[in-house]
Amino acid sequence: MLRLRAGWLGLVLAVLPAAGMADETAEPTLDDRIDAIVRLNAEQPWPVSQGALEALRQAPEFRAATLDQRSRLDLVEARNRIIDGRHEAALDQLEQVLARPISIDRRLRALELAANLSGIEQDYAPAFSYLYEGLKLLPQSRNVARRADLLVLASRFHAMAGEQALAMKYISEALDAARDGDDVRTRCNAEQDLVFLQFRAGLDGLALQTADAMWTTCQQRADPVLNGTGMMTMGAALLNAGRYSEAAGWLERAIAQHGENGFAIGVAESRYYLGQALLRGGDAQRGIPLLLDSVEHFEQREGWQTLIDLHAELAEAFEDRGDHERALAQLRALLSADARFNDVQRSLRVAYQQAEFENQRQQQELALLRQRNQLYELEREAQSSRQFARTVATAMAGLIALLLIGLLIRFRADRRRFRRLSERDGLTGLLNHSRFHRRADLALQDARRAGRPCTLVAADVDLFKQVNDRHGHQAGDAVLRYLGELLTDVFSPPCIVGRVGGEEFAVFLPGENRLQARQRVETLRGRLEPVVVGAERIRITLSFGIAEARREGRLERLRLRADDALYRAKRSGRDQLIDASELFGEAPE
Ligand code: GH3
Ligand code: MG
Ligand code: MG
Repeated sequence: MLRLRAGWLGLVLAVLPAAGMADETAEPTLDDRIDAIVRLNAEQPWPVSQGALEALRQAPEFRAATLDQRSRLDLVEARNRIIDGRHEAALDQLEQVLARPISIDRRLRALELAANLSGIEQDYAPAFSYLYEGLKLLPQSRNVARRADLLVLASRFHAMAGEQALAMKYISEALDAARDGDDVRTRCNAEQDLVFLQFRAGLDGLALQTADAMWTTCQQRADPVLNGTGMMTMGAALLNAGRYSEAAGWLERAIAQHGENGFAIGVAESRYYLGQALLRGGDAQRGIPLLLDSVEHFEQREGWQTLIDLHAELAEAFEDRGDHERALAQLRALLSADARFNDVQRSLRVAYQQAEFENQRQQQELALLRQRNQLYELEREAQSSRQFARTVATAMAGLIALLLIGLLIRFRADRRRFRRLSERDGLTGLLNHSRFHRRADLALQDARRAGRPCTLVAADVDLFKQVNDRHGHQAGDAVLRYLGELLTDVFSPPCIVGRVGGEEFAVFLPGENRLQARQRVETLRGRLEPVVVGAERIRITLSFGIAEARREGRLERLRLRADDALYRAKRSGRDQLIDASELFGEAPE
């Protein structure tokens, strides 16, 4: 079975074809020169446009440039930095652009690049946050290409987060927009994505039809990158339909085309598909080495999902040839890719749900303020005969309007802080899911090398939904903040504490065995007090699962055991701690 191509390729491709044509023109001279640089950026290797933009910045007439004109150059430069691998510098520049009062379309482009970049970096919380900010602005933009590009990105992100239905919705909106605007590049890109989404949904016949239409579209523009990815997609579609020798022909052309373009990722991806086509078509002699070669490439790119398929296919091939030892090695590699894939998938899910949640909450708060505003307006109308009342009501309405503006500004500032502090969870200040994982994983490996014990604690607030339902989200947030402080206090360094889900926490205790960890959890439970919000006292309990490391080399394995124990604690009535070593099925040491 073919799967959606690894997320990163889509992301890189979305950066590659870039800005497209120049935007609206106003002042001839300076704008013309910027237009030319934008075009160079789309058509030439990045150092060409970089040189031109640096020269323009030195030119005397540039002193009169508007913020919007400067921002256009900054966006070109940010894209160059992304291609050159200077991601931190690119993100700083994008943040600077976003902090300025610029046009909607410029803002959309900056958000698209920032979301893309965060996705490449696997920083999914900021990635979704940029994306959602962009999606909210979409209705205000008339620039078809800008809209379509962001919708394509939204589709890719949601596909990666396992939201296939949303991914389909966004891609069809992108296609509609691209057809409206007659934008070949975006249509070609979107149709390629659609092919892969259709595989995923099991619609193989339809995928092949879409691929045919895609190829017709992509050829309308003599863009070598588009043609290369088009050939590869066509090859993948034929491969998926079982037409192996035709597939191999297209993929060989794709490899040559990508090679000419100097697009190494495209070459590697096409070689992977070609290996599959050859192997399935009966040419194991050529197929297997191609697939073996691909492993390193996908490992470097952390394309875990593809690696799972790759190892499965190789294991089967070795098994068929009676080479059990190599088959076994492939199966082991498959298991480890699977663990890494689940980990990435988990942080994607958390990031997506967090963005969704933030989105809903902001809308709720805004709706509430709007309702109050309406109320004052009504009162003002009812009492319009009384001058005094009218003055007061007007003042109140003004106040509410100010509040509304203040709130919007705060949301923006919050969002920005949230992104910059992408190591930390904005609400509790604890490490977020992916950072917790990276640090705890390293600490686990240190402990193993030093032959010291270490333990992982998974904690989840009991019936937290009820807290939100009964006392409101603000109170729920207060509870989470309180727990963040308490956890930090009880589990002081070198313990590593993270918020790994909405109301889920994890603590890694280097140097401590399960009894010491249990002792600490009991201390925490003893100190747990009702949280006072306004007139209400909110009682909370938590369930815990703990697992001391045995032979685990990576954190994922340890976490599975801690999660199992936590799950058991929930099933046995909550408000308790279960040690994984006591679970049925875990062998005693
Ligand atoms: P269980 O004991 O089985 O864990 O029940 P539960 O209600 O805690 O579990 P469930 O996973 O159903 O609900 C978790 C809730 O946490 C749902 C979601 O609305 C809420 N939540 C997630 N993130 C936040 C947040 O940042 N703030 C607030 N206030 N609530 C959040
Ligand atoms: Mg939960
Ligand atoms: Mg819970």
